[in-house]
Amino acid sequence: MAEFLYIHIPFCLSKCPYCDFYSIKYNETIAAGYLTAIKKELALRKEELQPLKTIYIGGGTPTILSHGVLLSLLEYINKHFHITNNAEITVESNPCTINDKYLFSLKEGGVNRLTIGVQSLIDSELSALGRRHNAKAAKNSIIAAIKYFTNVAVDLIYAIPGQTLDTWQHTLNTILDYTPVHISTYELTLEDETPMGVDAAKGKFKLPDEDTIIKMYKMALHLLKSKGYLHYEVSNHSLLYFKSRHNHNYWLRGEYVGIGASAHSFINGTRFSNIKNVALYINKINSAKLPIEASHTLSPMDILQEQIFLGLRTCEGIRYQLLTGMDTLVNKLISEDLLTVTKNNNLRLTDNGILLSNQIIVEIFQNLPKY
Ligand code: SF4
Repeated sequence: MAEFLYIHIPFCLSKCPYCDFYSIKYNETIAAGYLTAIKKELALRKEELQPLKTIYIGGGTPTILSHGVLLSLLEYINKHFHITNNAEITVESNPCTINDKYLFSLKEGGVNRLTIGVQSLIDSELSALGRRHNAKAAKNSIIAAIKYFTNVAVDLIYAIPGQTLDTWQHTLNTILDYTPVHISTYELTLEDETPMGVDAAKGKFKLPDEDTIIKMYKMALHLLKSKGYLHYEVSNHSLLYFKSRHNHNYWLRGEYVGIGASAHSFINGTRFSNIKNVALYINKINSAKLPIEASHTLSPMDILQEQIFLGLRTCEGIRYQLLTGMDTLVNKLISEDLLTVTKNNNLRLTDNGILLSNQIIVEIFQNLPKY
């Protein structure tokens, strides 16, 4: 039984060349059929959901839907599910798709957290990412968002082709002038099958070098910390009380239900994923079947590995006991300033450790006892 609900809206104005989330070009008729299917999936899975502590509508670009359509989805959830009093209700947005009227309606409809995919405030970098907005539109969207919402989260990307330390600093400082309560900073990673990944493999553009990327990461940590933001997860920073409660549940390995094409769920020790195709998803739902494509029940070793790699993403870290029998490795990582012991006697990655987290986690996994 889950208290955390995710709904995937897999439509975008166009496909950004670096994106490997499941999304397709928006089409009003297809979107209408999809929204009906989503409500049917919610009805089919009603028993899996307890009173809801968070609802997260992500994508794709949920705000590509008209505010009436988006609010009818929230009304449906309100009518058929119990939502707790102070539930966190998030909608992901994109600067091209929101304006005052839209945001006012979302707020009136019960949304209390808005994320904005700003990515950069440099036009050439936004073009390199294939984004449809420019810096001016991004700034206007933040100005509008903070008029209606206290809980505004801005997403940024670093390591963009053509980005320099100066342009990254400009983006960070300008964003900080607006004081959004939550800022995510993601390093651009290019999957091989994305158009940008293919072009990168052909050497069609150059990414910033490793040394510059490390400096960008450290610059973000330093600037955000100096303005009072808590670095509470590898890519996430927030002012007090404004951690993403929904995402925090993922890192704590809490249960959640994901509705929609390609959405993932975690219930009763099993991870599920839905069909990654809108048409097939709608067909399945219309024949009153669950649209599950894959499921995996976690073994004790899977659980231990998840506890380690998800826990090490957070500032709380992991319980020391999870690495029982690995004192030599733990002491080595502590002496190398990659791991540290918290006040609660947990182990967490240091800022340097986060930079090497993949290698550290592989090393830890190689030393885990065999079940
Ligand atoms: S707007 Fe977001 S979800 Fe849509 S294609 Fe671009 S990066 Fe992907």
